[in-house]
Amino acid sequence: MNPEQMLAEADRCVKCGYCLPHCPTYSLSADEGESPRGRIALIQGLIQGVVDSQRLHQHLDSCLACRACESTCPSEVRYGRLITAVRSLQQSRGKKTGALHRLGLNLLTRAPYTQALPGLAGGYQKLGVSALAGRFGGDAVRRLHTLLPDEIQATKWNQVYPATTTTAGRVGLFTGCIGRITDRAALLAGIRLLNHLGYEVIVPPAQRCCGAMHLHSGDQAEADDQARINQEAFMGQGLEVILGVATGCSARMAEYSQDGHQLPAPMMDISSFLSNCPGFSKLQLQPLDTRVALHTPCSMNNILKAGSAPKMLLQQIPEIDLQELPDNGLCCGAAGLYLLSHPDNADGLRADKIAGLQQIQAEILVTSNTGCALHMTAGIRATGLDVEVLHPVELLSRQLPE
Ligand code: SF4
Ligand code: SF4
Repeated sequence: MNPEQMLAEADRCVKCGYCLPHCPTYSLSADEGESPRGRIALIQGLIQGVVDSQRLHQHLDSCLACRACESTCPSEVRYGRLITAVRSLQQSRGKKTGALHRLGLNLLTRAPYTQALPGLAGGYQKLGVSALAGRFGGDAVRRLHTLLPDEIQATKWNQVYPATTTTAGRVGLFTGCIGRITDRAALLAGIRLLNHLGYEVIVPPAQRCCGAMHLHSGDQAEADDQARINQEAFMGQGLEVILGVATGCSARMAEYSQDGHQLPAPMMDISSFLSNCPGFSKLQLQPLDTRVALHTPCSMNNILKAGSAPKMLLQQIPEIDLQELPDNGLCCGAAGLYLLSHPDNADGLRADKIAGLQQIQAEILVTSNTGCALHMTAGIRATGLDVEVLHPVELLSRQLPE
């Protein structure tokens, strides 16, 4: 979007305020500048040259880009496009991204693909750098330290995982960058389920980060570069669909293709695919007499519009006691790098989720996005709760017959 298109989009906002009760940052602050309506007015003022202050930039920075406002807007204002475009505009006008933010972004999105990862991770953990970071690092480094798993494992991914039953088709698997490390169990569980249902799973080695975090940070060019690399990586494999396990990545790649970029196959979240898969309802899953809480990520609800898919899948497990977290539509505060850049807001939003979890007294929390899982796990650990955090496909894979 150029500034003219941004103004036209912003002008569609009639300032009705329907979105306000659905906005997490407004719910925390009750400040108009922290609401979708207020931010749209600030974007209008910035483009028209009427207002440009540090406070304005803070209000735009503190938006989670969760897009709950977009889902409820009667005027169908495409707020997600607007906030992405304005962040890109801010960068082009010289707004500086902090050095630590840039370093973190590059490290988190590139390191998981390097051959040197096991060595780097080993050094980080064994040489005591992790303990030093946890103790003496700045706030963001310390928080990152609490999010990372105790042991970082680099997985050597096969390029092909053959179906274990009759062949139903061939699908591609998008691993994600941080997800390659932190969602390793979910990725392997997804492969196991797909193979069991007759799908051959292709994991192209040339794939890279989806670019979502760059986009949230205003770096449209880098986000598009990453998407192009993925476009090529999945080309020529005869895939019927490309599946993401983390909904944030699936949403970014799906929107990239909706923007007129042709992907080699449609991009889908694995839960949506499985819930439409004819063989899934025939699976004889083992019973699970356990209370399970469900958190639905914003990317699943507001971008992929498939919020009901994980619930449909998990309800196939006999005897499961599945309960949605209270206010399940509201963001948990993870939102890409937001959990590092805006710790107070991120923790404030998470506190409500943890309270909901305590209220439900669940033994397992299920969520389908990397950031949400990491953020919630850190909150659960800090509260001393005994709750296991799993991706829906991990739980489903566990319940497959032996
Ligand atoms: S609901 Fe839509 S039109 Fe109404 S204030 Fe919010 S963004 Fe504007
Ligand atoms: S994207 Fe989320 S945080 Fe940002 S204005 Fe909309 S509802 Fe509020």
